[in-house]
Amino acid sequence: MGAELDAITHPQDAGHSERSLGTRFLVFPQPPFIPGYEKPEVVWIGAAAGPILPGPSDRRMYVIDPVEPKRPYRVPILPPYQGFLRPPVEPGPDGHFDHIKPGSRAFVSTHSFACARRVLDICEGYLGHPLSWFFEPTLERLEIIPHISEWDNAQSGFGFLELGESKPNAQSSFFALSFDSVAHEMGHLVLLSELGLLEGNGRGSDFFAYHEAVADFVSLLGLLQFDTAIDRLLRRTGGNLLLHNELDRFAELSEERQIRTFNNSLRMGDVSDEVHDRSKPFAAALFDSVIEVYQTLLYERGLSDLNPRRYSNLRQQLAPALIHEGLRISKSSYELNHFAYKAALQEARDVVGESVLRSWKLLQPDTLTFESAALSFLEVSYNGRGRAYMDQLEDCMRWRLIL
Ligand SMILES: [Zn+2]
Repeated sequence: MGAELDAITHPQDAGHSERSLGTRFLVFPQPPFIPGYEKPEVVWIGAAAGPILPGPSDRRMYVIDPVEPKRPYRVPILPPYQGFLRPPVEPGPDGHFDHIKPGSRAFVSTHSFACARRVLDICEGYLGHPLSWFFEPTLERLEIIPHISEWDNAQSGFGFLELGESKPNAQSSFFALSFDSVAHEMGHLVLLSELGLLEGNGRGSDFFAYHEAVADFVSLLGLLQFDTAIDRLLRRTGGNLLLHNELDRFAELSEERQIRTFNNSLRMGDVSDEVHDRSKPFAAALFDSVIEVYQTLLYERGLSDLNPRRYSNLRQQLAPALIHEGLRISKSSYELNHFAYKAALQEARDVVGESVLRSWKLLQPDTLTFESAALSFLEVSYNGRGRAYMDQLEDCMRWRLIL
């Protein structure tokens, strides 16, 4: 008995088996100047990606750090980059990259790689299959350029993801250090790969605006995979995400950019044709959907007295005062249920995330409209984990005048 226990607690090859579980990186879920996010979180990139080599690089993507000032890619100049490169960032003796600490040039490389790789893993999980890049087989892997100086932008395209800075030469402003920026660009790449490319110019379709909505939503899905983010969001609001309804108050409460993006009451009639503007009602409807499923799970599990099925579009229809009164609970009673609330939010995130990503196989780029996207989302929900919430999901789309 004693020997058996010893074998369990002291496996002979602990180092080796840990390597086979994946590779560690440090990632900031939000930029470190945001209160509560000063320290990075350890993230494991799973072993299915194969070994992670110097760069970092693996069989799906690689980071390069050019010696010369690089100009952003523009057709016809595309990857692979032809100039001289700085030495790749090396893993530690244990094979992990979490020995690379914030503040160094190497960290900009490991951070952008880990963010991009993690978003790909999350999206593949929702899709239920590995993704092939839309630029294969011309290019086999995604090239990541973690920092272009004096370029206030981030962009993704045919085989590349490159990241600039919002203030000249200030590392705190590098887009590579913003999970949100990297995740948004990865959202575009994943959607292009799964939905496909336009054959025409996209006129008459919502292709480009839908892209922006999805890129933001993928970034939200990514954020909600971090313990730091989900714990802070729930504890700050006492688990009451309906506080979103109180627009001004919530803006104060919400430090995560991804959450603020979805914090709007815009309907399709309220927005212009500019793609970012036009993306807002649909993106917000997806966020409403997450909240509806979350509140339903809380009710079903005896964690809330509010039955969302009694209201159509909970977030938008209930008076803020009622929500505030009805759902207010003391901090100490919230803490008793924190992990139950957390499980509900994670489940709601996954129900909606899976339906959105799996709806792409029903859509065609050239004829895509927000209405067709909403109908496909509902169809996939009905045939999947969203069936129990159909009325609420449909209400979310109707309230925004998407249907
Ligand atoms: Zn975008």
